[in-house]
Amino acid sequence: MTSPPLTSPVGRFAPSPTGALHTGSLATAVGSWLLARRAGGRWLVRMDDLDTPRQVAGMADDIRRTLEEFGLWWDREITRQSDNQEAYRDAFERLLGLGLVYPCGCSRREIAQAASAPHPDDDTLPYPATCRGGMRGGAVVRSWRVRAADGEICFDDLRRGRVCQVLALRCGDFVVRRGDGGFAYQLAVVLDDHLSGVTQVVRGDDLLASTPRQIYLQQLLGLPRPRYCHLPLVSGPGGAKLSKRDNLVSHHLGNWKGREGALLLALLRFLGQEPPGGLAGAACGEILQWGVDNFEVGRIPALGGELKP
Ligand code: GLU
Repeated sequence: MTSPPLTSPVGRFAPSPTGALHTGSLATAVGSWLLARRAGGRWLVRMDDLDTPRQVAGMADDIRRTLEEFGLWWDREITRQSDNQEAYRDAFERLLGLGLVYPCGCSRREIAQAASAPHPDDDTLPYPATCRGGMRGGAVVRSWRVRAADGEICFDDLRRGRVCQVLALRCGDFVVRRGDGGFAYQLAVVLDDHLSGVTQVVRGDDLLASTPRQIYLQQLLGLPRPRYCHLPLVSGPGGAKLSKRDNLVSHHLGNWKGREGALLLALLRFLGQEPPGGLAGAACGEILQWGVDNFEVGRIPALGGELKP
């Protein structure tokens, strides 16, 4: 076998082991796997285990086995965010040394009262920079925030096209570390992807609004920017948020046993692809190979929706 071209992407799937996969997270895994493999690239798996209290024992193993059952094999050993704490600390200290980060004593309620209006499409309130000039006397540190840029941050999403956001208007100075010392997802993910050489981030549309924050941190830390592709979200009936209870895909539950190929075909169709009818009943490997040969990012629909069997 010849080695992949130097420019072939390094993609990744980064589930949080807080529960089993569901049809929506599996759609992201399949999309990210195919976009990496189609371009002759590699695909990595990382367990996003930063949120320790929400983790459920055995879930990392369940996710790993589920990926195996669907033929979504990965390159290199699976990594975990918990291995990267030192890198988070170094980056945080660099930002602190540059005067870009400051301690904040505001509670969520105080921020909600001070902010003009909550944003309808995520629960981020633009932080009104109350503690930029220093915390009020006697306040305890509840978080550490990075000063947000006033200018626009833009990137070209492989599916969504050009996306721009003014951080100061969208979220304001945002949290990179909690008062208890834990690092925030926005900072961690930038370092995780960088440390493992990820060059292509494919994930759900629910994270689109976070991407400019991550690009901003990459700029501050002098890190290269990966390519981004945000995929439509699988929803429940009538566009409702997917209930995990009804949509789990779990090795331990065995609830898709023997029907893995049928689910893969449904996921391909959800992603706008048209696998031939002859693949009905085929093994996962054969279906994925069809995807490697035929997957077109331009066919992915603009809107998500229910997964049709
Ligand atoms: N761990 C995150 C999740 O499960 C995904 C992080 C990412 O893809 O950047 O929602």
